[in-house]
Amino acid sequence: MELLIVEDDDAMASALEAAVVSAGHKATRVSRGTDALLVHRKFDVILLDLGLPDLDGLDVLRKLRQVTQCPILILTARDDERSVVLGLRLGADDYLVKPVKLVELLARIEAVTRRMAWTTGAQDRNLTVGTLAVDLDRRVASVGSRVLPLTATEFDLLALLVQHAGSVVTREQILDALWGDAFLASSRSLDVHLTGLRAKLDLPGFIINVRGVGYRIESEPA
Ligand code: CA
Repeated sequence: MELLIVEDDDAMASALEAAVVSAGHKATRVSRGTDALLVHRKFDVILLDLGLPDLDGLDVLRKLRQVTQCPILILTARDDERSVVLGLRLGADDYLVKPVKLVELLARIEAVTRRMAWTTGAQDRNLTVGTLAVDLDRRVASVGSRVLPLTATEFDLLALLVQHAGSVVTREQILDALWGDAFLASSRSLDVHLTGLRAKLDLPGFIINVRGVGYRIESEPA
């Protein structure tokens, strides 16, 4: 991924840059809010400081949100509740207070981009796997001519697995995508939805348990 780091503190910017590069991403750093507004288009994630020399970071955020849905993480020394709430209301995807643990930063970057991929579904909106067809826009799933009477959560779960057909989706990724948090969400409620989904699919072996990891749907089931 290509990250844009908006940060006026050189030492902080270098540390952030080193961390994201070490995780295999590319990083470009600008130190002014106006520069961020000029170059934001080519990036997958934006890390935004609030205390900038030319504009307040919250104004930069407000302006960015008028033109882009790109994931934006605020990184700031401001930890007052008002700034946090305002930042999130203005459309920041996450908020980290400095000093930031770099491991946590990388985990948060991954989480927001996963959510993004999930909600925008950059790929085809009509997916098929074997006899299963999923229409993401109409939120309809069918097996052959049989339309499945899925609950909203069962549909989201199925859509997530089908969008990643051929690869394992971990339990944490599912909890994070469906409930927005891999750690707060109840793992047991996932099992309940999964059981319901499997019963309605009525395709034994279609959703494969990958023990201790997660679940997988084969891209071309037997
Ligand atoms: Ca600053």
